[in-house]
Amino acid sequence: MGDLTRVDAATVTRWLEGSAAALHEQRDYLTQLDAAIGDADHGTNMDRGFSSVVSKLAELDGSVPPGRILVTAGSTLVSTVGGASGPLWGTALRRAGRSLGDGESFDGAELAVALEAALDGVVELGAAQPGDKTMVDALEPAVRTLKEGLASGSPAAVALAAAREAAEEGMQSTVPLQATKGRASYLGERSIGHQDPGATSTVIILRALEQAVAAER
Ligand code: ADP
Ligand code: MG
Repeated sequence: MGDLTRVDAATVTRWLEGSAAALHEQRDYLTQLDAAIGDADHGTNMDRGFSSVVSKLAELDGSVPPGRILVTAGSTLVSTVGGASGPLWGTALRRAGRSLGDGESFDGAELAVALEAALDGVVELGAAQPGDKTMVDALEPAVRTLKEGLASGSPAAVALAAAREAAEEGMQSTVPLQATKGRASYLGERSIGHQDPGATSTVIILRALEQAVAAER
């Protein structure tokens, strides 16, 4: 039987609200990671940004399609987060939303295309490649694994769980790397031995997506 998963505005809202709750809970941890190789603001940046997103979504009309919700969320992140992660995640969500367009719901394959557009936006803006010790080290394997899983016939919920695992492995792979992009690159070799904060928050956001879609069934 084919995959009947449909992702709609309620799923996307649950994803963003779940991300906000988890980022709030992990705020101090993310900030500690950023204290080691950055300027100790990643947790507060992500928490502030996503809590603004949740407030903004509460003002939206219930008929707004999922793509528009993501574009609004992305613009909110750009305007409320000062650090690098604001424009990066803001661009990611705006690109994902634009990719989805005005449809009322979408399937796993459309979700994969949207997440690939998000990744492309992050790479265009930040010019980081896998191995540079950034959020790309978590997002790129997640998008690749999601596409592979769907192509081999996995239901969206299963492919998303595999994608989140791939992101976790990518996050762990940042520990021995030397940062070559962003603030952590100023440390040179001293960035080695620390987990990248942005790759860590990326896993948190992808886990919230996995849970939002799983709750759909
Ligand atoms: P800032 O570095 O401005 O203080 P944050 O602390 O909120 O911003 O975010 C830091 C994270 O942003 C890093 O851990 C890294 O994952 C990500 N990042 C920084 N620069 C880039 C880049 N050029 N491309 C992709 N991700 C980046
Ligand atoms: Mg920082």
